[in-house]
Amino acid sequence: MPDRRLLAVFAHPDDVDFGAAGSIAGWVDEGWDVRYVCVTRGQKGAWDAHMDETEYGALRESEQRAAAKVVGVTDVTFLDWMDSEVFDSLDLRRALSREFRRHRPHRLLTMSPDPLPTDRFVNHPDHRAVGQCALDITMTGGTTASIFPELLAEGLEPWRELEETWLMGPAVKPRAVDVTATLDRKLEALHCHASQIGDRDIDTFVRQRLRDAGRAFGLQYAETFRVIGYRR
Ligand SMILES: [Zn+2]
Repeated sequence: MPDRRLLAVFAHPDDVDFGAAGSIAGWVDEGWDVRYVCVTRGQKGAWDAHMDETEYGALRESEQRAAAKVVGVTDVTFLDWMDSEVFDSLDLRRALSREFRRHRPHRLLTMSPDPLPTDRFVNHPDHRAVGQCALDITMTGGTTASIFPELLAEGLEPWRELEETWLMGPAVKPRAVDVTATLDRKLEALHCHASQIGDRDIDTFVRQRLRDAGRAFGLQYAETFRVIGYRR
């Protein structure tokens, strides 16, 4: 496959593995050059309020790097936002525009900005902010020279060859990817996030969820996405 780049933008270590690691493993197998941008280090992901945030963030960064390697991704960038303090802001738009122009993706993968994707829980505010901002810069700072001219000074031209944005999230969505062949790698990637999983039986839960998602599409196991295609 000629140079095909996919940029995944997400809020916390483990988001991309819950949402899309099976699909990513398959895309890497197909020849996609996949890069990750993680906006926080999940510094607040511990229940223990006494945990040192910097130390915990470093642990979670190393877990995400290991999980990425399992599915064949080695280019992982961490931005320096604090967990649970991510808002749609000019700073975030500039930072994501910078990454978008730097990685020049043909396919962008990010988080659903929907506040209530299912009736079971509220979508984390960091997920919403990152998803919203990543979508928005495809219409603004990522693609338009007059927005963030300081990026031009960094040598980063607008990138206009994005073809699709894929949104991941907990609800079943219209586009299914068959992950039957890559499920084991997804589970292995998830197990890299030991600080989040502990001794929970994550395999049963994940298999069940992917089986439920696949049923409607006649697949054994599926990850599902909403796909926005840009008119060329
Ligand atoms: Zn998250």
